Amino acid sequence: MKAVPQWSREKHPLMSGLRMRGGNGSRRSVPTQFKGVQSGVPSMYAVRLWTVRHAHGFLRVYRFFERCARVLAPLVRLIGARRAERLMRPFERTAKQFLFDCQMCGQCVLSSTGMACPTNCAKRMRNGPCGGVRTDGTCEVDSAMRCVWVEVAEGRRNAIRSHGPGQAADILLPPIDHTREGSSSWMRVISGEPQTGPLSANHPVRSTAATAGDFEKTCASGRFIVTVEVAPPDSADPDALLARASRFSRLADGINITDGAGGNCHMSSVAASAILSTHGLTPVYQVACRDRNRIAIQGDILGAAALGVRNILCLTGDDVSQGDHPQAKPVFDLDAVSLLHTVRRMRDRGEFASGRHIDHPPALFIGATANPFVPPYLDRITNLEKKIDAGAQFIQTQFCYDVPMLEAFVREVRERELHKRCRIIVGVGAFGGAKAMRRMLAKVPGVHIPEPLLQRIERASDQKAEAKRICIETIQALAGIEGVAGVHLMGHRNEDVLAEIIVESGLRPAPLTSAA
Ligand code: SF4
Repeated sequence: MKAVPQWSREKHPLMSGLRMRGGNGSRRSVPTQFKGVQSGVPSMYAVRLWTVRHAHGFLRVYRFFERCARVLAPLVRLIGARRAERLMRPFERTAKQFLFDCQMCGQCVLSSTGMACPTNCAKRMRNGPCGGVRTDGTCEVDSAMRCVWVEVAEGRRNAIRSHGPGQAADILLPPIDHTREGSSSWMRVISGEPQTGPLSANHPVRSTAATAGDFEKTCASGRFIVTVEVAPPDSADPDALLARASRFSRLADGINITDGAGGNCHMSSVAASAILSTHGLTPVYQVACRDRNRIAIQGDILGAAALGVRNILCLTGDDVSQGDHPQAKPVFDLDAVSLLHTVRRMRDRGEFASGRHIDHPPALFIGATANPFVPPYLDRITNLEKKIDAGAQFIQTQFCYDVPMLEAFVREVRERELHKRCRIIVGVGAFGGAKAMRRMLAKVPGVHIPEPLLQRIERASDQKAEAKRICIETIQALAGIEGVAGVHLMGHRNEDVLAEIIVESGLRPAPLTSAA
């Protein structure tokens, strides 16, 4: 069995000599709105990496400050909170910017993120990592920067080694409150105001058995699940979409409708999902956090449910730099985990994220994604558990081209009994020949393809047939792994090959056979 690779600090150039960020022509390293604060100060990045390596010491200083801060409370009351904040803010900004590349979000969570500031994440995730981390641990958006959540994982491990697990707990963090940006977090510590607390995940998931749609029923039945991804067309003609999707009506239990996959513009996923639903197909409506804020997303979810859509997949989404509109403003108001929590709250408690009442809550079967094939490997399982706590009932993974690596991940899933709390559906696909796969490896964030597999395809006389054979072998291997509930077939505009793979791997009979 191949060992699960782990992040190696020594091997990475960014860690071996405190090398600086920038200078590689990378297009965007921080959210646009903060660019002015951070750009052009490369030494900050070096200090930031150093503080993560010394997270245990900084956590000790933080706890000491927390205890001392209460003593200052009477003084703050004497001079007035607003004046005290005006005095405090410049000191806090200077110190935290120097040490942590702090963006002054006003809701400091450094003590639970291993002293790595999550506002430096290009998608501003509060519950990372995203699935696009490169295999060398660098950021999907800026290859000159380590993924902030790889830093978080390292900082947490450092803090836990010295202080115990309770001191750097991986909590489910709420989305950023934008009204607090620029304000002092220290002031809140001094005045004893509650800090950013974890999202509550302990209210029980409401049973959805009574309202379960076809896909949810299949997931509950224990049958090996087959889902397939279909990209909506670049067209206002619903027939183009139906032509693509309807060939899977008897071959797949659910048809995922992508939401601007790869940051490219297509027919909206909410409209495309509703069209499929109207025509008796079973869509899995994908929602990415990249393009809409929490108001727009919740409105779309209610609209989708009103139009008969029963299944939803919550994603953070690829960055805009990956697609055909790199000039667009990335939103990322929520991340996948806070979106899951929001959808679950809408369904189970009948409330919006604001707490306002929903008259008729949406009946939805909620899913999320996982990527076991990229760093930080050890924390991927924790991230999966977080998603399940937030409300995920099924999980669809990134492409699996490395079965031993997937097996190692699923073994950990079984140990934590996560497969009993949600259905794990593993992504598979075939992409033409080796050249196309190498292109995908270079361009699609978060994809891992072992070199021997690429060479096997390269050596074959018919490369496409060989890639298809590998996909079928992978499906058959996955079907034998306890904890794997099904497969999710992906392949951009490659529906014919995907349909052949489903039949030839024995997952479902050919439609003509079943119609006869
Ligand atoms: S790889 Fe993803 S999670 Fe990591 S810093 Fe970049 S955008 Fe954030």
